[in-house]
Amino acid sequence: MEENAVWQRALRPFAWVSGDPDPRGLQVGFFVLIVLDRLLRRAGGVPLGDGNWPLRGAAFALLVLVVVCLVPGRWSRRRTVALLAGADLAAIGIGSLGPETGGIGLLLVLPALWLGNEFRLRGAVAAALATLGLVTVPGLLAHGLEGEWLARFVPLPILAGLGALALAAGLDIAEAAQRRAEAGEHRLARALRALEAERQTAQEVFDSVDVGLMLLDREGRRVGMNRRYEECVNLSLSDTPLPWPGDTFAADGTTRLRPDEVPSARAARGEEFDDYRIWAGADPRTRRCLSVSARRATGPDGKPVGAALACTDITELMRALEVKDEFVATVSHELRTPLTSIAGYVSILLEDADLDAAIERKLRVVDRNTKRLTGLVEALLQEAHLVDGVLPLAPCEMDLAGVVAERVRAAEPTAMASGVDLEYDGASASVVLADPERIGQVVDNLVSNAIKYTPRGGRVRVGVECCDAGVELRVVDTGIGISPPDLERLFTRFFRTRAAMEAAIQGVGLGLSIAKAIVEQHGGRIEVASEVGRGSEFRVWLPALAQAAA
Ligand code: ADP
Repeated sequence: MEENAVWQRALRPFAWVSGDPDPRGLQVGFFVLIVLDRLLRRAGGVPLGDGNWPLRGAAFALLVLVVVCLVPGRWSRRRTVALLAGADLAAIGIGSLGPETGGIGLLLVLPALWLGNEFRLRGAVAAALATLGLVTVPGLLAHGLEGEWLARFVPLPILAGLGALALAAGLDIAEAAQRRAEAGEHRLARALRALEAERQTAQEVFDSVDVGLMLLDREGRRVGMNRRYEECVNLSLSDTPLPWPGDTFAADGTTRLRPDEVPSARAARGEEFDDYRIWAGADPRTRRCLSVSARRATGPDGKPVGAALACTDITELMRALEVKDEFVATVSHELRTPLTSIAGYVSILLEDADLDAAIERKLRVVDRNTKRLTGLVEALLQEAHLVDGVLPLAPCEMDLAGVVAERVRAAEPTAMASGVDLEYDGASASVVLADPERIGQVVDNLVSNAIKYTPRGGRVRVGVECCDAGVELRVVDTGIGISPPDLERLFTRFFRTRAAMEAAIQGVGLGLSIAKAIVEQHGGRIEVASEVGRGSEFRVWLPALAQAAA
């Protein structure tokens, strides 16, 4: 495009010999120049010579002008220009027949340029030949082949041919450049249209998904946001002018978030997170719960280019969970009283020494099942507490190895009945600051699971050792194992593996989620490694006494 503009600018002064000028204009220009030549000769006192040839040449040019003006549009432009150039060369030839040709010969450049402009290479050849035939040959015939006249007339066809050729070549280059530029412009326009269409499609897709999406650049500035995310942000911006982040609350629905705690601020700091729950909205009755995830975005060179956030409205799910938790808590609570009463009366009946053996056997079945039912109700109630985020703890300095040894001993009859070899290997000093009852519950759950999910003839090893600024409990079994996808959801409430259900092993899927909550509330962590068909290893790490106290 640049190149094209340069050429157009360069050729502008030649507009009346290049491009598509009106032939009448050309002829007017030529006639004016030839008259000027005559006038300058007269002013300079140059004699016109015998035959008055210069004036005849000018008269011929005038005649051509009159003809051109009288027959407009009769011929095609190209033909008119060709005839005009020939006629003007003839006028120059006539003007050159006198003894003093002056500068008239130079005027032949004009018809030569017109020919070059109109017919390019062919025009250049025609200009040279026409000059030869109409100017050089008649001139030499009139003046003779003497040196001076030869020098005057012979270069003229060359001059005309070269002038026309130069213009033709320049115009060819300019046109090629213009064509290239126009093709480039078209390609660019097409690419821009395609890009715009793609951008619009992408924006429509971006806007139509039900998940809120936002992109941040490296500095944490917003690069893009779809309608859904905007709606989520707008929830926090009520009419009351509150400072940012407006009515945005933490997962508990009541603690206001600080500006640096909102998802976009965390993502801008380079944090990656999943299911970060926040509540947005001024009115607690209509407040919405949003689950936000963030991932760092990297460029092709692996360097960070920003972050992407995805936000989903999970209010309905949260309300449904609340209703379910309330229902489970209420039912469990209502079941506990009659169960306590049944358990109490069964144990009173079992204390009777005169009890018939058959009735005692049946009562023991009732007793076992009542205890199971009571355990289940307890687990459900604890779960309800966990949902509220409170699990009352009574921490004290306790010897983990001692508690574990006691619980393993209590599990020995079950292991024996199941044909599983249970072994314990304890550490000497393993004092932690913890709630012995709750930690005992964790041990019970892990050991009973290990026995439950290990087929007859298998082994369960329980160990406690001091390590890594804390104490670690290990429960290793040679049982049915857990598949990798199941491992990811193992600590989710009510989750049971497919293998456990297919083997019809009884359970409700609450023990591990409660164990995890208890361990984490003690500042510890619980981990599991497992292989299907080979066994599992559960590890519980609790901070050592000094650390826990701090
Ligand atoms: P429950 O045992 O009552 O079903 P838990 O929460 O204790 O509930 O365990 C959840 C699930 O994890 C179990 O149902 C079982 O599928 C799997 N699981 C737990 N411990 C083991 C183990 N040692 N080996 C294999 N699977 C296990």
